[in-house]
Amino acid sequence: MADIVVLGAGVAGLGLAAFAARRGHRVTLVERDGPPPEGGADAEVADWERRGVPHARQGHALLGLGISVLRQE
Ligand SMILES: Cc1cc2nc3c(=O)[nH]c(=O)nc-3n(C[C@H](O)[C@H](O)[C@H](O)COP(=O)(O)OP(=O)(O)OC[C@H]3O[C@@H](n4cnc5c(N)ncnc54)[C@H](O)[C@@H]3O)c2cc1C
Repeated sequence: MADIVVLGAGVAGLGLAAFAARRGHRVTLVERDGPPPEGGADAEVADWERRGVPHARQGHALLGLGISVLRQE
């Protein structure tokens, strides 16, 4: 088991953190932006200050394989 530090909670960092933790590694995820506001998805889109990922407010589509791998993990 390794200690892993992941910088950045975008899709790549979140994915790596989930994959590594599921395989027994101890993961610390470091994100510069603050946590989401209370109120669910609508509040996150409207009010979450994600200076590091302004594209988080844009609609995103993922290919089927990507969705299926993320669901499994
Ligand atoms: C308008 C737009 C539409 C898009 N639409 C699609 C789509 O439909 N489908 C698709 O597959 N892709 C789409 N993309 C591309 C996709 O958004 C990117 O490929 C993806 O977000 C990259 O993920 P990432 O985790 O590598 O980086 P990012 O999403 O950029 O995340 C990086 C993270 O690191 C954090 N960070 C930065 N510096 C530091 C630091 N020093 N310390 C700590 N944390 C830090 C940031 O705050 C951020 O949270 C789109 C992009 C844009 C701009």
